[in-house]
This record gives sequence, structure tokens and C-alpha cells, in this order.
Amino acid sequence: MNNKFVYSPGPTNIRENVRFEMSKETTNPDSDKEFVEFYKETCDSIAKIINTKNPTYILGGEGILGLEAACASLTEPGDRVLILDNGIYGRGFKDFVEMYGGEGVYLSESYSKAIDKNKLIKFLDKDSNFKYATVVHCDTPTGVLNDISKICQILNEYGILTVVDSISAIGGEEIRVDDWRIDIALGASQKALSAAPGLTIVSISEKARLAMKNRKTSIVGFYCNLTIWENYYKDKWFPYTMPINNIMGLNKAISNILEEGIDNVLNRHKKIAVATRKALKEYGLELFLENGYSNTVTSVKIPEDIGALKLRDYMLRKYNALILTSLKPYDNQILRIGHMGENAREDKVVYVLNVVDKALKDLGFKTAKDLVSLFNLYYF
Ligand SMILES: *Cc1c(COP(=O)(O)O)cnc(C)c1O
Repeated sequence: MNNKFVYSPGPTNIRENVRFEMSKETTNPDSDKEFVEFYKETCDSIAKIINTKNPTYILGGEGILGLEAACASLTEPGDRVLILDNGIYGRGFKDFVEMYGGEGVYLSESYSKAIDKNKLIKFLDKDSNFKYATVVHCDTPTGVLNDISKICQILNEYGILTVVDSISAIGGEEIRVDDWRIDIALGASQKALSAAPGLTIVSISEKARLAMKNRKTSIVGFYCNLTIWENYYKDKWFPYTMPINNIMGLNKAISNILEEGIDNVLNRHKKIAVATRKALKEYGLELFLENGYSNTVTSVKIPEDIGALKLRDYMLRKYNALILTSLKPYDNQILRIGHMGENAREDKVVYVLNVVDKALKDLGFKTAKDLVSLFNLYYF
């Protein structure tokens, strides 16, 4: 793998002190009790960032593990589950629900808009017979941000448990798990937290814990069974060998965030996201979204005669910069500026915008403006 400038909405850039931490000598995480303390301390720091007193765990496995584990642990055959669908990850939850015998019911919204609270209330007034609902905080392929502060409280009022995929938002967008009544909050190491890929974060409310405990059928499988974590601290026992180097890296990444101060970190994201959006629009491009702009990723439409895939390939070949498009069916339509975590730094964003600007002009995009000047105008 050649050295290149990589800028993607996850995995994000990893700060040097985090990479260094991962290379340190380690202990045996199964039998060294000090590691149990270290693990718990790391979980407690994450709980601070997501504002919860609920038990919070780090699982060995990439973010998708959390999505599947939540569905595996809550779903019993025949359970109805409401799937809020306004993005690719949002829609995908249905597959996990149905794999474990549940019935997923969509409430769909245009993929260029956030979920509308009033539509949700109208829907629930007709049908609210759901064990739980799934919603994505920031649906990364398009960047749409859902107002989970309101959505989860509404679902809670109808007696529906809430599962929130906040994988690409935690660390870049505010999340208040307890105040907003999020029963299962899911995060991962490699997005706005800017640690290496490979870890899932899960917080579990008392109501969700009881729903898992009081099942009539037992949870299928072991790796995706969230109840196996419940007594890890009391018993000083992990269900499997913890990926200790990754957890040491995550611990350092979390310390970086807490040292900077979570409010400062969130403001940094907001400032960069706002300036990026304004600059792209003023430059003559169109944002993919009509509302629900996330501060962690911006999706911008690339003119059809150029195409996002050609632009991506050109930027890599000509400028040695790997900047991502979206997933299918938007892969040729959208370029994504993943300004999250360590990517949300002005030097990196300026570099990216400079490459995008030059590449677009090389490929025939006509404008008298330049993206970096526009960004500077709105940022400083
Ligand atoms: C990254 C991400 C995940 C994890 O999925 P991978 O494609 O395996 O990285 C889950 N949900 C969201 C919203 C994500 O951004």
C-alpha cells in the first residue's frame, strides 16, 4: 500500500499518540485484573461522552457487530420492529431483525431528508405495536442527521424501545443517551472517535436489559448476545480475549477528546461543517440533502457530465488523494467530505477542498471561484 493522502468518513485519521499507544507492550487481558480496571475506565470515559449512566461496553468487532448484536439480543420470533428508513444503514436494520425471526416494518422518508417527527407521531397513532425501533443518528452514505433527541422520546412515549446507530456521530455530534431515552446506543472506534477500526461500543438501558432477560426464547448465538457482558466486572471475566491493543488506542483517542473538552470538539466539527457546506454551495455545487445536515460528513452532488467515480479516480491518480464517493446507488452522484474526528481539522479540510477544486476544474467544471478561498471566508 503506497502512502497517500486518505480522507474518508471512516475509518478516519488516527492521531500519532493513538498509533503509538497501540504499539506498546501489553499484558494478558484475560488474566491480568489490572486490564479489567483499564477496560472499565475506558467504558466509563465513553459513557461520559455519550452522557449516560447505563452500563457501557466495548465489544471486539467492527461497528456492524453492534447493529447485529442489538437485533439478536432483543428480537424474538414474531416480534414487530419499526425501522426508520431514510438512509442505507437505516434500511439495512430490517435484514438483521428478520435474520433473528422478527418482522421489520418500515417508516420511510426520502433519503435527502431527516425523519419528520410529525409523520412519526401520525404513524404511531395508527400503529404502535412494536417491541423496539431502530434509527440511525447520522446515516453516513448520505450524511443525513436524524433528530434522535425528539424521535427517541416520542418512541418512548408509545412504549417502544429505541436502538440508535450513532456510529458516525458519537464524538462529532451531541448525544445524550439518558435524557433522550436511548435504550441501546451504538458506536464504533473508527469514525468520529478516530481510533483504529475493530471495536463496537454499546450502552444498554435497564429497560433494554430487562427485555433481554425476560425473553421467552433464548438468544441465538454467543458473539451477538449482549447479556454475556452483564457481570464482566463483578466476575473479572470477559466472554473472549479482548483486543487489548485496540482498546489501548481507543482509550487514548477518548482521552484526546476529553482533554480538548467535548464541547470544544463538537464546536470544532460544527464550525468546519458549516464553512464546508457554505463554500461548496457558493462554489456552484449542490448539496445532496434538503435538510438534516450532519456536522460529521457532507455529501455534495457532482455534476453528471463529470461523475463522482471519475472524480474520485482522478484525484487518486493525479493528486494521490483518496477521497470517497458514496455507496450504491449514490456512488456516482455524491462525493463525501468526511470532516469527522481527526479529519475535522482545518489543515486537512483545506487540503481536501484544494484537491477537489483543482480536480473538478481539470475535468471541465466551470467556475471563477475557488473552494479554499470560500472556505477561508466562512471559516475565519
Ligand atoms: C461505519 C458505519 C457502520 C459500520 O459499518 P461498516 O460499513 O462495517 O464500517 C454502521 N453504521 C453507520 C451509520 C456507519 O457509518
